Amino acid sequence: MSQTRHRKMRTKNSHPTLLALHGGAGVIQLDSMSAADRARRVAGLREALSCGWRCLQKGDTALEAVLQTVAVLEDDPAFNAGRGSVLTSAGDVEMEAAVMNGSDARFAALSGLRRLRNPVLALRRQLERQQVYRCGREVEQELVSLGEPAEEADWFRTPERVQQLELARMRQQQILDHSGAFGTVGAVARDCMGELAAATSTGGMTNKAPGRIGDTPLIGAGTWASVRIAVSATGTGEAFMRAVFAHTVEEAVRLAEYSLEQACDTALERVRELGGSGGCVAVSEKGELCLPFNSSGMYRAWVDSAGDFHIGIGCGEEQAGSARLL
Ligand code: ASP
Repeated sequence: MSQTRHRKMRTKNSHPTLLALHGGAGVIQLDSMSAADRARRVAGLREALSCGWRCLQKGDTALEAVLQTVAVLEDDPAFNAGRGSVLTSAGDVEMEAAVMNGSDARFAALSGLRRLRNPVLALRRQLERQQVYRCGREVEQELVSLGEPAEEADWFRTPERVQQLELARMRQQQILDHSGAFGTVGAVARDCMGELAAATSTGGMTNKAPGRIGDTPLIGAGTWASVRIAVSATGTGEAFMRAVFAHTVEEAVRLAEYSLEQACDTALERVRELGGSGGCVAVSEKGELCLPFNSSGMYRAWVDSAGDFHIGIGCGEEQAGSARLL
């Protein structure tokens, strides 16, 4: 699909626009994080928030805003998506990403990507296809031949990720978080027409088996949007899949008439029962915005309905102010 179609300008502005993003949840040890690292991470979150917010302010769709927001995080090597993705047990990146548009339930997902520079932007083409979820070399080659930018393997691999793989191999485990390293990235938005969208992008888990698929690209697990809510999750993927996390939030809102916060807490409790941890960002058509997590921290940022922005890593806020300052 051409970018212009997603960028159609809106004339009616009846809904305050909302945006929330995450840069992964996990064991975040703020005490041992250097001031420079912390500042770099806050700056990355702020840049992504600013990009998505500008999209919404100029009348772009929620769909376009979440794609652009997540692309900024993919470009930042500190995050586990795009460049800087974690490595599989074979030492490669295998990236996956998904997007869902709430108003028409359009969904697109890709897995097993090794060369696409911005998996989340490649989803635009995938959205147009009947087969909504594809994986592997063939689809990647097809997308590259259609003009999606690609890079060589070494471009994605950062020294930090190589080190983390060595550590995980030594411990013979998959590592969700790395004492301050970033995780999966995602965003949810409500645009000025009140429409919702969610997008999530990841390299998955360090030392994952080649071919392993997590919750991120699975509709209703790590990514979901409807006319009611939009959710993007991060955490131990297997537990989020078993909990059908994002769709559980949807059903709690739709059937049990829970508030968005109650619904997210219920779904996160299910994840915990299943042995997982993590969090999500979620928005509702009523204007609720939630960023809950049951891990020690979650890199997150949002703009609320009053037009103020907030950035957090641990339990408190790192930065806050008027979104006009973004
Ligand atoms: N949920 C992701 C996965 O399991 C990992 C993360 O959120 O950092 O692939």
